Amino acid sequence: MTFSNEIIHKSLFIGGVWRAGGAGEFDVLNPADGSVVATIADGNEADGTAAVDAAAEAFPGWAATAPRERSELLRRTYELMSRDREELAALISAENGKALADAGAEVTYAAEFFRWFAEEGVRTAGDYGVAPAGGTRTVVTHKPVGVAALVTPWNFPAAMATRKLAPALAAGCTTVLKPASETPLTTLAVVRLMVEAGLPAGVVNVVPTKRSGPLGSTWLSDPRVRKISFTGSTEVGRTLLRQASDRVLNASMELGGNAPFVITDDADLDLAVEAAMVAKFRGAGQACTAANRFYVHAAVADEFAERFGNAVEKLSVGPAAQGHDIGPLISARAVEEVGSLVERAVAGGARVSHRAATPDDAGFYYAPTVLVDVAPDADVVTQEIFGPVAPIVTWTDEEQMLRLVNDTEMGLAAYVVSGELGRALRISERIDAGMVGINRGLVSDPSAPFGGMKQSGLGREGARAGLEEFLETQYFTIQWPH
Ligand code: NAP
Ligand code: MG
Repeated sequence: MTFSNEIIHKSLFIGGVWRAGGAGEFDVLNPADGSVVATIADGNEADGTAAVDAAAEAFPGWAATAPRERSELLRRTYELMSRDREELAALISAENGKALADAGAEVTYAAEFFRWFAEEGVRTAGDYGVAPAGGTRTVVTHKPVGVAALVTPWNFPAAMATRKLAPALAAGCTTVLKPASETPLTTLAVVRLMVEAGLPAGVVNVVPTKRSGPLGSTWLSDPRVRKISFTGSTEVGRTLLRQASDRVLNASMELGGNAPFVITDDADLDLAVEAAMVAKFRGAGQACTAANRFYVHAAVADEFAERFGNAVEKLSVGPAAQGHDIGPLISARAVEEVGSLVERAVAGGARVSHRAATPDDAGFYYAPTVLVDVAPDADVVTQEIFGPVAPIVTWTDEEQMLRLVNDTEMGLAAYVVSGELGRALRISERIDAGMVGINRGLVSDPSAPFGGMKQSGLGREGARAGLEEFLETQYFTIQWPH
């Protein structure tokens, strides 16, 4: 699958105009071979301020637009993304490296946020009540928070943008958006489709840049910006929260994860393998929801490792454009970091039980790997791997296993595979994570409130909750005639 040049947009998008960047240009690379996919405009702080100017100017008009009108823009964007699904998938694969099947699934998921919030955005729920003391009535309503700054990561270049843009626009907010510098092309392509769908000038402004720190500070210190919605690492999230505190800015944070994958002794192991393959290897393990550490009951651990390992060895690794199951990692540095985690685990007594083959290409490949006999406190268990490595820890005592599972500052996703639903639910309720996949390896769904506990984040995306992140609550208290 290839993409046409028309899907590539190389400019900043500010006030409805495609324009050059104040900091020159930068290259977007294909991690499969290091080739340049495109050279695009690099925005500076002045561009950031111009984007806020445009969003602030567009805000009153957009906020006053009929919900149905906003909804129909989102619905049309959903349809256009669906129309261009294959080409968008190829573009994601080109700049991110992920397998075409994963990229296609991402486009479907990403487009669904436009459909979901097109539907949710017209249900402008409020509340009405009689004050307990009588005499007055309370009417509760909602207003858009205002200009929202959106900052997204490279691992889901379409979905992380649409999961913010769709609810922001449905709520009546206008936006300034900074995609990750590794993967700005997909976001620009999606915004181009929004223009085709009828996006008014200034409602969405995009500033790709290599200078993320200064641009972030420009936005967070601008009094017209009323909201920061960030997806990325916990480390950068903390930095943004510190800056946001100066202006008591409304903040939503989707941060790092370290998902446990629990398998009980009565689990259906075919199902466990199927779920584990999805939870671990989607996007070569570079998902915030990726299974990071496997806790397998000792009675089935050898059997599971064998079946899982056999499936892992069958994975074909190589360029997405050639139809492989697993693509490269995002960068050479990522390959080094994953390799170092594995080396340290092995030095600490772990053993590589199964490994897929990697191509000799120049790309940033790391072979899908299963590690057994892993110490529960190995770095590969306690840190977010963000790569195709599955460390297996065994357990016999449920209480002890749950202590290990919860002994982390992360709390995004978790997975439980068990033969008995009651047992799976009992274990799931005791895991401190915002999302638990039970007998399945995928937790994401636009209709479900995606997000984390502890240092994995603040707020939720998707579902009704995702819209509320972009709304303020206001009430009128009304003197009532006797
Ligand atoms: P990252 O390094 O934190 O970057 C995320 C975004 O923040 C990028 O656009 C980045 O721009 C920007 N950024 C970096 N430093 C900044 C600063 N000082 N001020 C303003 N913006 C700044 O994360 P990543 O490496 O792209 O993504 C991987 C991480 O994201 C993982 O930890 C993963 O778990 C997490 N993640 C979480 C979710 C979730 O929903 N919870 C979803 C996906 C990913 P540049 O890269 O261009 O500098
Ligand atoms: Mg980064």
